[in-house]
Amino acid sequence: MYIIHVASECAPVAKVGGLADVVSGLAWEHSIRGNDVEIILPKYDCMRYDQVWGLTNSYNDLWVPWFGGAVHCSVWFGEVHGRKCYFIDPHSNDNFFNRGTFYGCRDDVMRYAFFCKAALEFILKSGKQPDIIHCHDWQAGLLPVMLAEIYQHHGLWRQRVCYTIHNFKHQGIFGHDILAATGLGRPEHFFSPTQLRDDHNPSVLNCMKGGVVYSNFVTTVSPKHAWEARHSNQSHGLGGTLHVHQGKFGGVLNGVDYNAWNPELDGFLPARYGINNVDDKYKNKDALRDRFWLYKSEKPIISYIGRLDEQKGLDLICHAAHYALAHGAQFILLGSASNHAIHNQFAHLRNQLGQSVDCHIELGFNEELSHLIYAGSDMVIVPSVFEPCGLTQLIALRYGTVPIVRSVGGLADTVFDKDYSDVDLGMRNGFTFNDLNNAGLESAMSRAISLYYDYKEVFRHIMLNGMKADYSWNHPGAHYMNIYEMIKHK
Ligand code: ADP
Repeated sequence: MYIIHVASECAPVAKVGGLADVVSGLAWEHSIRGNDVEIILPKYDCMRYDQVWGLTNSYNDLWVPWFGGAVHCSVWFGEVHGRKCYFIDPHSNDNFFNRGTFYGCRDDVMRYAFFCKAALEFILKSGKQPDIIHCHDWQAGLLPVMLAEIYQHHGLWRQRVCYTIHNFKHQGIFGHDILAATGLGRPEHFFSPTQLRDDHNPSVLNCMKGGVVYSNFVTTVSPKHAWEARHSNQSHGLGGTLHVHQGKFGGVLNGVDYNAWNPELDGFLPARYGINNVDDKYKNKDALRDRFWLYKSEKPIISYIGRLDEQKGLDLICHAAHYALAHGAQFILLGSASNHAIHNQFAHLRNQLGQSVDCHIELGFNEELSHLIYAGSDMVIVPSVFEPCGLTQLIALRYGTVPIVRSVGGLADTVFDKDYSDVDLGMRNGFTFNDLNNAGLESAMSRAISLYYDYKEVFRHIMLNGMKADYSWNHPGAHYMNIYEMIKHK
């Protein structure tokens, strides 16, 4: 099958969060199954050019209709660890992708509307005839809309779209200007409640709703989160639309790319290890302590790795730091915030705790360092308010690092409490809590810390259970192939 992913991120070349890992992991899984897989991305100035091999200008004369005129683009081709990637490079004064940042610009919706239009124009003009276009998150939500409303009438009529929602929180809200820019026009049509009109604010349109309405199949990234999206407020207002389109909506649990995340092969680790030599994990713990000048003792290291965003339970992350230090554990945080107030909150925490020989707070994005922290820590915490899937806990499991998580979304689908789960003992792999407050978090952290000190063998069983579980792309890859097959024949 010929599959093209259209996304705003792909690991490791343009990565902000889990979306990047999913695009890269799923593309790889499908290509090793013998499919022809390509990825279309923006050509950001801030992407990691050192991760692209053989970047060449592959299509120089792409003119993308835009407002009354057209924007000249070049399309570059390069391989990202074996994945075939095309990068859209517009030449216009808007400098859509030369902002020194991936997101956070006032015209983000305009930037990605342009990206969708350019991706379709490129597919059309280069004569590509993919079977499936797999679109991701709000940034690619307008692609199926433009495919159905414009491009199918120019020759792209065979293509079927699978749309994956990685995070309902950001939906891409816009108005008349984007209808004019993209050539979709017809506000009276698109402002209909069955089309793109936002379900809460009738004066605006919604990219993600467009993705849901116009795609042939819609997924989110775990079965539990698919349920939450339909039956609670976790779809951030899209529940009604999902209800209408429930027949083409489901949850597929993300996988982890075990080529990138495998402690037996990980080139970023001073000591590689697996189930058979798990004690070598502790050489990484030593190296991690050396790197941050942490005191060497029998204490466990509890870490947080992830974006610093309200979604992640910021107050609970701060509380976890204080609680860990007060209860015989060390604490490490690696996180980046796109919001200044949040950055300052954690800079303050760093000032408060940074002098401790048991604590290190690292603010910023650092892929290489994240590998050492996953390997060198004993536990990670993920106290999210909501979590569509969550990769942190899946990576941690592979590295024998016991997850302590709030039982929501994909965290509930993948972490099974040592004491209170209903799965077999051999599958119990971490600690969970429900209540979104300090008492809830403490109930899980205290059990984890006590087990670490008092029942070392049981703690090791929990670690090994996690390492044995298969959260590779094998199962989700097969699941997505079934979805593609199903919609291809519709
Ligand atoms: P989300 O998609 O909400 O950001 P996920 O848990 O699905 O959360 O994925 C997060 C991914 O990003 C993981 O691979 C994690 O290791 C990585 N990550 C997040 N923040 C950082 C950071 N500051 N430095 C390095 N890696 C990070």
